[in-house]
Amino acid sequence: MTRTAQVVVIGGGQSGLAAAYHLRRVGLDFVVLDAQAAPGGAWQHTWDSLHLFSPAAFSSLPGRIMPTQAGRTYPDAQHVVEYLADYEKRYELPVEHSVRALGVHRDGEFLRVETDSGTWRARAVISATGTWWRPFLPAVPGREDFGGEQLHTVDYRRPQDFADKRVIVVGGGNSGAQIAADLAYDTDLTWVTQRPPRYLPDDIDGRALFDAATARRRALDEGRTDTGGVASLGDIVAVPPVREARDRGLLKASPMFTRLVPGGVEWSDGTRAEADAIIWCTGFRPTLSHLAPLQLRGRRGHIATVGTRAADEPRLHLLGYGDWTGPASATLIGVGRPAREAAREIAAEVA
Ligand code: FAD
Repeated sequence: MTRTAQVVVIGGGQSGLAAAYHLRRVGLDFVVLDAQAAPGGAWQHTWDSLHLFSPAAFSSLPGRIMPTQAGRTYPDAQHVVEYLADYEKRYELPVEHSVRALGVHRDGEFLRVETDSGTWRARAVISATGTWWRPFLPAVPGREDFGGEQLHTVDYRRPQDFADKRVIVVGGGNSGAQIAADLAYDTDLTWVTQRPPRYLPDDIDGRALFDAATARRRALDEGRTDTGGVASLGDIVAVPPVREARDRGLLKASPMFTRLVPGGVEWSDGTRAEADAIIWCTGFRPTLSHLAPLQLRGRRGHIATVGTRAADEPRLHLLGYGDWTGPASATLIGVGRPAREAAREIAAEVA
């Protein structure tokens, strides 16, 4: 059976919910399809001690401020899951959970969304499937020779799983720093980063990242000099556990090794370190395989966009994947604005 809606939103994490909020406001008929069985998107799957890098009030979706979490300035992931579940319920957003979009196809004046439980036809599709589901691993020689455990950020849960083990954490971003800090007390830790860690000043958090991303977008839009955006500030927000481990001298970073060897890693000068496990905190790519039938893929796995709209398929919008789909759009506070713009553009056309 084929069902019809004016808009199908694929993905029911924060980005899909922000889209749904604004689609409701502009009066469109829509459905949100989400592969997860429960609300919360990727936040349901992060490591236990993950802290947001902004206070609750600065991690809010449109319409509803995130409540503060008792005893914490920077909420944990479970708090975000509860907030998103409440958001979905409070606004009675039509989210169909446990439904995976398999392919989006052109079908005359419609886009057809094939899922693992039926087909939808829509005048527009908003893809909001995040990046968590496509972990990126750099090509480093010798990966097959290592023999120990290799994980990505998405697989890591808690330090107890590595108690007394020799662990190498690779990556100088927020995930790498937070996971290294988590492991610094109970494991024999080596933290490896491509360049020396760049901490944001301790009094700066995700709010400044949002401001920097917005200022950069504005400068580029107005033809002014590139401000450098978020990258100009630093890579790591010094959330309390990171700050504490760093200040205790437990977060000493080594440069990137050149290859993996049986039981460890090796640097270019021949130095070696033994390891039981390597945790690759090396980032993500956008989850876009469901859009493959539209044949839109461009450079670096992205799709060319104008705002949130796909440049070569005007009925498709992309939301929440990074700055290329709106300044700071891959953050809780940043996704609201591009979501609103996408909903307004779709409303103007569908009407
Ligand atoms: P997701 O949360 O990944 O949601 C996408 C949803 O789409 C999921 O439910 C998924 O199952 C579903 N889906 C995927 N493919 C399909 C399909 N084919 N069909 C149907 N459903 C599908 N941001 C902040 O604002 N503050 C922070 O402190 C912060 N910390 C972060 C820490 C880490 C480690 C990471 C990785 C990111 C962090 N972010 C933070 C960035 C961002 O807020 C999160 O990545 C967030 O989860 C992105 O939300 P999303 O809705 O775009 O994607």
